Amino acid sequence: MALDDIKSRIAAAVEKAGRAPDSVTLIAVSKVQPDARVRTVLEQGHRSFGENKVQEAAGKWPAFREEFDGIDLHLIGPLQTNKARQAMELAQAIHSLDRPKLANTLARLAQDTGACPDLFIQVNTGEEQQKAGILPADADAFVAECRGLDLPVRGLMCIPPVDEEPSLHFALLAKIAARNGLSGLSMGMSGDFESAIALGATHVRVGSAIFGERVPG
Ligand SMILES: *Cc1c(COP(=O)(O)O)cnc(C)c1O
Repeated sequence: MALDDIKSRIAAAVEKAGRAPDSVTLIAVSKVQPDARVRTVLEQGHRSFGENKVQEAAGKWPAFREEFDGIDLHLIGPLQTNKARQAMELAQAIHSLDRPKLANTLARLAQDTGACPDLFIQVNTGEEQQKAGILPADADAFVAECRGLDLPVRGLMCIPPVDEEPSLHFALLAKIAARNGLSGLSMGMSGDFESAIALGATHVRVGSAIFGERVPG
């Protein structure tokens, strides 16, 4: 089974890195996957899932939650401020805190509701024009800004450029996290989660290697 295979590859990578067995969370990225495939993974007992769109998550997960207990939903895609409230209600973690405006909105909503999901700051490690995220040079200041707003920042997240060696980006993200006293590292996808684990990933986001190729909707 694909899920078991990924879990054993994660366990092997964790052991090879000399890390604790429970130090890496597998987020099964279910975006654009047919419900039947998601259900199969739920029935195998997996409970951590990732979605990149609030609307899609809202259409899919409330029903699964009525059926299965203990689902942890991670929002991993760009978040518009007008969807922030809905995102906070749906997700246990948001991995795409990428700009001051969103930080301010989340802080205001957290004050209103008295609750906030765990947050990961997305860093644009490849400094790509088309990609979201805080530039590496601005990351320390943004971490401080978010802490000043009392936001529960747990770690950093990155998506390396497709045509570059991902481990350079994972190492950079780990370095920025360490100097800011952040323990969470959301990095590594289907093609590179083992090297992410070697460099300290605490959350790997694996989609197609678990569910199969995404079926465009
Ligand atoms: C889709 C997606 C993933 C999963 O990608 P796979 O290559 O299918 O594992 C991971 N992270 C983010 C941010 C994504 O959008």
